[in-house]
Amino acid sequence: MTNYIQPEATAIDEFVSVAPSDSNPASAIELNNSQPVVRHMTADAVFTAEQMQQSTSWDWQTVTANTVGDVKSLAMLLDLDTQTLTSLVAENSFKLRVPLPFVSRMRRGDISDPLLLQVLPLKQEQHDIPGHSTDPLNEQQYNVCPGLVHKYHGRVLLTAAISCPINCRYCFRRYFAYEENRLTPSNWHQSLNYIRNDDTIKEVILSGGEPLLVNDRLFSRLLDEIESIEHVLHVRIHSRYPIVIPQRLTDALCSRLINARCNVALVLHCNHPNEIDDHVRQNLNRLVNSPVTLLNQSVLLKGINDDIETLSSLSENLYQAGVLPYYLHATDPVAGTAHYQVTDELAKQLNLELTQRLPGYLVPTLVREVSGKSAKTRLPLASPDTIATHACDE
Ligand code: SF4
Repeated sequence: MTNYIQPEATAIDEFVSVAPSDSNPASAIELNNSQPVVRHMTADAVFTAEQMQQSTSWDWQTVTANTVGDVKSLAMLLDLDTQTLTSLVAENSFKLRVPLPFVSRMRRGDISDPLLLQVLPLKQEQHDIPGHSTDPLNEQQYNVCPGLVHKYHGRVLLTAAISCPINCRYCFRRYFAYEENRLTPSNWHQSLNYIRNDDTIKEVILSGGEPLLVNDRLFSRLLDEIESIEHVLHVRIHSRYPIVIPQRLTDALCSRLINARCNVALVLHCNHPNEIDDHVRQNLNRLVNSPVTLLNQSVLLKGINDDIETLSSLSENLYQAGVLPYYLHATDPVAGTAHYQVTDELAKQLNLELTQRLPGYLVPTLVREVSGKSAKTRLPLASPDTIATHACDE
């Protein structure tokens, strides 16, 4: 292999400082000696199908450093007509970014592949839809100090890293002002002090961006700091890494999570059963039957998982991998994401059908975040009559 970037070995003392909007050129995540993450590929890097297959055996930093960042490479890897794919796409400041192991699970020659549709910057993102905005949840108002969001009682969200190894097009934080809210050595003590001084905070949620973008040593250090606060009982980690780059679950990371003082919940983000393959299962297996609680949250996405077969297979596949479904999120009205929106009527119908088809523990809670509410809002089940009418209508 000659054309992928080997991440540098760095002395790491700081947190990530990468703008998720990728306003910087060539979608490069800048790496300097004080940053604990690997950089992403340059936009013109090209990968072969062989490298894509081999990527499952690379270490996680190398895979993170070598994400696919242009439509032509994607077309080539997926045996798609470059012109056809390019004609559907309008790139913007939220760059195409997708790790090779995730690409390897996409179906060759299928332009409607449900994994591909989650990462492709379609022209529909340019549509200006009334009611959609860059911060529909008004999250900025809950930034109590840089890197810390305190929205709900008893828990806070710490943005441990401000970028992701994958750019999901429907991301509700794609416009979040991470640059102003990143943890740095000069302010992370401020955030930790905030938590220390409020003994109603029982849970710290590590989110992002992608919290596991920081390396094992730094992650462990952060966990040490959090666990030194006596009233914090639970740590929740929201991560898409175990799905998109499963080898991120290193021995060191798993060992730290398993031996944590706090209760640890690792909440994955997986939307479609095809996202779970042997590579994912094998790595998750390091945490199955451990004290770490494995949960999953999905986003209900039009054309990707908005049918009963896909959603029930997703729950079954997660359970086979040792993970319980937790939340199914209705999309937020984020600018550029309206083409993923599923109607509430359909969402409720699907939720009802799931309860009729699966045991209760495999049915995720259908929720929506509503700005100003003190908790997530549960969407009620559709009435069974609605389903009957719907079925007859068809
Ligand atoms: S992994 Fe999560 S935070 Fe990152 S782009 Fe995807 S949805 Fe957004």
